[in-house]
Amino acid sequence: MSIYTGPVFEMARDQFTVIADHLAIPADERDRLLLPKRALTVAVPIHMDNGQTAVFTGYRVQHHLTLGPTKGGTRFAANVDIGEIAALAVWMSWKCALAELPYGGAKGGITVDPRALSLRELENLSRRYMQEMIPFVGPRVDVMAPDMGTNEQVMAWFMDTYSMYQGVTVSEIVTGKPVESGGTLGRREATGHGVAFLVFRAMERLGINPSGATAIIQGFGNVGSYAALALAARGVKIVGVSDHTIALHDPKGFDVAALTQYATAHGVLKGFGDAAQIDPKELLLQRCDALIPAAVERVINKDNAGKLQCRILAEGANGPTTPEADLILAQRNQEIFVIPDILCNAGGVIVSYFEWVQDLQQYFWSKDEVMKRLEIALERSWNNVVHRAQLDNIPNRVAAMAIGVERVRNAKRTRGLFP
Ligand code: GLU
Repeated sequence: MSIYTGPVFEMARDQFTVIADHLAIPADERDRLLLPKRALTVAVPIHMDNGQTAVFTGYRVQHHLTLGPTKGGTRFAANVDIGEIAALAVWMSWKCALAELPYGGAKGGITVDPRALSLRELENLSRRYMQEMIPFVGPRVDVMAPDMGTNEQVMAWFMDTYSMYQGVTVSEIVTGKPVESGGTLGRREATGHGVAFLVFRAMERLGINPSGATAIIQGFGNVGSYAALALAARGVKIVGVSDHTIALHDPKGFDVAALTQYATAHGVLKGFGDAAQIDPKELLLQRCDALIPAAVERVINKDNAGKLQCRILAEGANGPTTPEADLILAQRNQEIFVIPDILCNAGGVIVSYFEWVQDLQQYFWSKDEVMKRLEIALERSWNNVVHRAQLDNIPNRVAAMAIGVERVRNAKRTRGLFP
């Protein structure tokens, strides 16, 4: 019996089965590819501001160790469990392999609503979590990064905590750090920039002019906000946007600079322009050129996949589309072009890789250099996916995952099975 249960892990498993069938991977090889190599659960006790002690549950899952260290974000969210973290680790593996990065996938998290904590409590929690992880991570073992509910500041605390235990600064232990603490230029905007770059590629392919085209973005965190800015910079109208507090829709388009300023100042979108409020479920169904889910898993499902009115579905989030929805989207492949998550949001981990390389070498690149290399890497992955989808006559997700799974499989094959 597996400890990895729940709908998100089932989704990762179902997706893998589709790929394994497509690649005709024998049954006895499948578990070796899918099941995470290691998982750690920790109790994280901290002092709360009210003088009490609270204990949170933290996780880290390392999916495979075949290509190098494992790599992936750390999520602070109220619904985090080991099954979800494991699924996210598996997806990181296929994402890194597709982008040709020398990493296996990992993911970590704490079951907590970070918005309910004070800054001091958040720091206590971040530091104690990293302290508990010390036997399990390392610059050549497992390299963390931000994910939902964490940010550059949390990465700085992680790096500082790890470094204090080593007695020297080890900036290469995490990525997504502030630039002042060994982070790289461009990491902050990397994921959103990558999403927009690929939306432009898809528009080019479909003959849509970005200037005057429309986009709807679900989620206005690091990914959604920078995607909005990059799209707007080339004339795309952002006609819908949402976060966990409100969904807004206006066919005339929003002022994205004002939107990001408001979100930075208030932490939420609520209050920006509530007259444009729409039911969050309805927002996804509005007509637009690009629909960008950039929040949580499983928001495109069997209930709404048939009703989407977008030309491009650009998956900024990890796992936004369920396998049932994929079957519906496969029927609609002339109407909707899917940019699957492991391609669409890979800009983040690609620039994380650049950050790690720069930290290891202590030699830092200009922002132009980072962005240029990011676009070269995304272009290569995009070409590989689109070409493979055409060649095998398969959906883009199957093509992207097949390339990722194949790379991991080939590496395992040539290394052999120890002992
Ligand atoms: N959390 C991000 C992701 O899901 C970034 C991971 C990283 O940079 O290592 O891809």
